[in-house]
Amino acid sequence: MIAVLGSANMDLVVTVDRAPGRGETVTGRTYDTVPGGKGANQALAAARAGADVAFLGAVGDDDFGLRITALLSADGVDVSGLVVSDRPTGTAHITVDGDGDNSIVVVPGANGTVTELTDAHRAVIDAADAVLLQLELPLALVTEAARYAHERGVRVVLTPAPAVPLPEELLAAVDVLVPNEHEAALLTGDGDPVTAARSLAARGGDVVVTLGARGAVRVSGESTTQVAAFAVAAVDTTAAGDTFAGVLAAGLASGLEWPAALRRASAAAALSVQRPGASSSMPSRAEIDAFLSE
Ligand code: ADP
Repeated sequence: MIAVLGSANMDLVVTVDRAPGRGETVTGRTYDTVPGGKGANQALAAARAGADVAFLGAVGDDDFGLRITALLSADGVDVSGLVVSDRPTGTAHITVDGDGDNSIVVVPGANGTVTELTDAHRAVIDAADAVLLQLELPLALVTEAARYAHERGVRVVLTPAPAVPLPEELLAAVDVLVPNEHEAALLTGDGDPVTAARSLAARGGDVVVTLGARGAVRVSGESTTQVAAFAVAAVDTTAAGDTFAGVLAAGLASGLEWPAALRRASAAAALSVQRPGASSSMPSRAEIDAFLSE
């Protein structure tokens, strides 16, 4: 079983020709509500790929919370550790302009109430093969969860996004660090993904830096491996990284060796970028199998 401790948000996406300036009102073209949050995205990706997944986090006592909970449940994610908080479900207010550029306001809402590692969290982690973490919950909590899991021999997989400097204590407890190239550069001050990955791996653990359409690079100890991306026509790369991390964790937890787990993660991410949206774009296990046997 994979425990995902992380954020659940509703993304409120508007498209505009031109983003409004200060004090200005503009007319939008479209509006959509899309379940998201890195935690919920990774939980869904892992569950669709065939893993048993328990999601730990919080939503509000509102329609967005109900929708997110229903979406996770429909894919078999155990939501008994998803607390209903008195704050509203987290939201990301996203404005996409005519050039495809985003501006985003994130309101953590209920996610901000997940500040302590509870006995309920510990019980789920105790039973898990892997814990998937991101940085959309408070850093102190993520650090505590990573340490708790690591001490019990539960594999800790961290997507360090949104990127902030990572405390040594957290890095020391991470078995698999999965930054994208921008996050790797921010964490190390090194713009070259291979040397950035090597310096992150020097602290111990595996590092997989994702490189978008260029694939990924894995550094483990002294060895550096390039991971090929699949050549596909991308229409929307939202949550490609979350799909990759969720499916990588699912593969490793199911006992796959690293090369096979990386290949499945790359295939799932390649499938996801060919479809619009985040949760709506994540493939099932059967779709991943079919894609790999083509
Ligand atoms: P993030 O979404 O965190 O920025 P990346 O953009 O690095 O992450 O993408 C994660 C993974 O998704 C890549 O390692 C790759 O396997 C896959 N991927 C992303 N973009 C493409 C693409 N255009 N074509 C094929 N695979 C892609």
